[in-house]
Amino acid sequence: MFNGNKVVDFHVHLAKYEVFCDRAHKWFAQAFPSLDAYEAFCDTYKDPDEFIRLMDEKGVDYSVILAEIAPLTTGIATNEMVESFCHGNPRLIPFCTFNPYLHPDMGESLKNLCTQHGFKGVKLYPTYNHFYPNDPVLYPLYSEAEKLSIPILFHTGSSIFENSRIKYGNPIFFDDLAIDFPNLKIIMAHGGRGPWYDEALTMIRLHKNIYIDVAGLPPQKLLEYFPDLERFAHKFVFGTDWPNVDVKKNIEKLNKLPVSPEAIKKILGENALEILGL
Ligand SMILES: [Zn+2]
Repeated sequence: MFNGNKVVDFHVHLAKYEVFCDRAHKWFAQAFPSLDAYEAFCDTYKDPDEFIRLMDEKGVDYSVILAEIAPLTTGIATNEMVESFCHGNPRLIPFCTFNPYLHPDMGESLKNLCTQHGFKGVKLYPTYNHFYPNDPVLYPLYSEAEKLSIPILFHTGSSIFENSRIKYGNPIFFDDLAIDFPNLKIIMAHGGRGPWYDEALTMIRLHKNIYIDVAGLPPQKLLEYFPDLERFAHKFVFGTDWPNVDVKKNIEKLNKLPVSPEAIKKILGENALEILGL
């Protein structure tokens, strides 16, 4: 809770992956005084109880925990890892992932993961795994997600990781999805970061089922990137891209923006709770 508002962090990665790509590993480690300190941090927070304690300390009510299978770019945190991390903790919301080059039958798999394994959403990484979000190969997945009311979070915009290809991160491709799947909840992580803030804003203006997750963006810059933030406050969700960030500082910075308390309430938690059906 922050000032009486529920807080949902819509964008959290596991501290410890099964495999980290070398450059991604170095990038995460550089925020720590030593490699040992970084490893100790990962070991602490691979324990969900420790992570819950951190959420309490930072004032976070719910965290969306993201699987990631991006062997070319960042590394691998499997669906099984996310499932076991979130198991028995209703404040940890598990999102599974698919890599279209590795996973056939994504629609069927999604049904199984959601109905048998408790997943509440999907994260996809077009720029890390080199596919366009509107590629027809993904349509069975979208169709199933729409049927099950499962939201899909997409990485959009830039990334510092080697081998990511930014062309796949243009928000314009969600225009197709929003039209073809009018009841699918589509969330654009990072709001087209870098070249495409305007495109992202255009998507949320045009389509009732598209949202922006502000993870990885400095909260104090949000009005610069999205001048219509107040008017479209019902289309933004708070997220941090933890671990490399102080979640509480981001909440405080967001709270200082010159927008209405109602807008802050929506962005911090209300919209996310609605999207997640909580
Ligand atoms: Zn992320």
